[in-house]
Amino acid sequence: MNLHEYQSKKLFAKYGVPVPEGKVARSPQEVYEIAKELGGPVVVKAQVLTGGRGKAGGVKLAQTPDEAQALADEILGMEIKGHKVLRVLVDPASEIKQEIYLGVTNDRAARKPVLMASAEGGVEIEEVNRRSPEKIIREHIDPFLGLRDYQIRNLAYGIELPRELWKQFARVAHGLYRCYVESDATLAEINPLIVDGSGNLLAVDGKMSVDDNALFRHPDLAEMRDTSAEPPAETEARAAGLSYIKLDGEIGCMVNGAGLAMTTMDMTKLFGGSPANFLDIGGGAKAETVAAALRIILSDPNVKAVLFNIFGGITRCDEVARGILAALADVQADLPMVVRLVGTNEKEGRQILDEANLPNMITASTLADAAKKAVAAAKSA
Ligand code: GDP
Ligand code: MN
Repeated sequence: MNLHEYQSKKLFAKYGVPVPEGKVARSPQEVYEIAKELGGPVVVKAQVLTGGRGKAGGVKLAQTPDEAQALADEILGMEIKGHKVLRVLVDPASEIKQEIYLGVTNDRAARKPVLMASAEGGVEIEEVNRRSPEKIIREHIDPFLGLRDYQIRNLAYGIELPRELWKQFARVAHGLYRCYVESDATLAEINPLIVDGSGNLLAVDGKMSVDDNALFRHPDLAEMRDTSAEPPAETEARAAGLSYIKLDGEIGCMVNGAGLAMTTMDMTKLFGGSPANFLDIGGGAKAETVAAALRIILSDPNVKAVLFNIFGGITRCDEVARGILAALADVQADLPMVVRLVGTNEKEGRQILDEANLPNMITASTLADAAKKAVAAAKSA
C-alpha cells in the first residue's frame, strides 16, 4: 500500500524528520483559507499516488492566497498518469539551495535494508541510477545492529554534504530508518530533502510503501488507504479476503492458490486468449467467498468467459460448486463458464453443477482442456 505525500510526511514528522507545516484541502476555497493562514508564498501540490507530479504540472508555487486558489482550481480534477487529483497539499513555500535524495528500501538480493543518498535530488532516483549510478551512495543495514552513525557519515561524505549539516542529516537518517522499520515499510523516501533558505534540512516531498502483509498490526496505517485510487473491484476483493488484481484481458479466472492462478493465466495465453484478472480465492474457500469472487469477476465489462480452475485440497469442490450457484442466483450472467473441478469432493461438486443444469456451463477435465475451451468460448462470445 502506498501512502500519499501528506501522509508520509506526517509520519516522518513523528520520527523527528523536519517537514513543512502544511495542510490538505479538497477545494480551492479551502486552499485559499490555508494559504491565508500560513501567510506568505505557498506551494500547491497534487496528492496522487504516482511520481513526477512536478513535471506533469501538479506542483505549483503561489505568492498570494488568491493565486493559490486559482492554481488549486487548475490542479484539482486534473489527471496525472491516470490518477485523478482529489486533494492538494498546501505547504509554505521553501527557498531551495540544494536538493538531496534520501531513501531506504529493501534490497532483496542483499537480504537487508539499504539506505541511499544522492546529491542529485529532486529528479526520479531511477533516472539518476540509469544516468550516473555512482552518484547514489548506498549503505546496507544489518537489521540486528540497526543503522550505525558511521554509515550515516559515509553517506554525508559521499554526497559532499557540508559538515555543518551532518548532525541534522544524522537525525533525519535515523528518523527515516526508524519510521521505515516501525511501519513495516518497503520504501521510505525523501526526494527532495532540501537545504532551505536558512541553511537547514527540510523534507519537502515524501513517499512510503507499506507491506500489505503487515498492515494487520498497523491499524492506524491501514486506515490511511486511499481506495479512490484503485479499481473498485480490488477494494471489494480485499474486503472479501481475496487476492485480486484486475488485468485487461477477456477471460475471468477463478482459481485457488497463487501458483495455480498464474499457471492458469499462462495457459489462457498459450491458447491465444488473455486473462482479465489474477484471482486467488485461497485455501478452504467457502461458498460465500466464491460468490463474492464471481460477482467481482462479472463486474468487469471486458470479461467474455469465466474459467474456474479449482484444485480441491483444503478447498472442497462441492463448496465451490455451491458458491458458483449462489453467485449466479443473484448475478445475472449468461456468458460461458468453463469449470474444471478436481480433487476433494470433485464428484459431489460436479453433481451439484450437473443438477443445476445451466445452459452456459461447460465442463473440462484437464487444465489445458479448460483453457482451450475458455479461449474458444470468449472468442465466439
Ligand atoms: P514530485 O515531482 O512528484 O516528486 O513532487 P515534489 O514534491 O518532489 O516536487 C517537485 C519539485 O518541485 C521539487 O523537486 C522542487 O524542485 C519543487 N518544489 C517543491 N516544493 C517546493 C517549494 O516549497 N519551493 C520551491 N521553490 N520549489 C518546490
Ligand atoms: Mn519528489
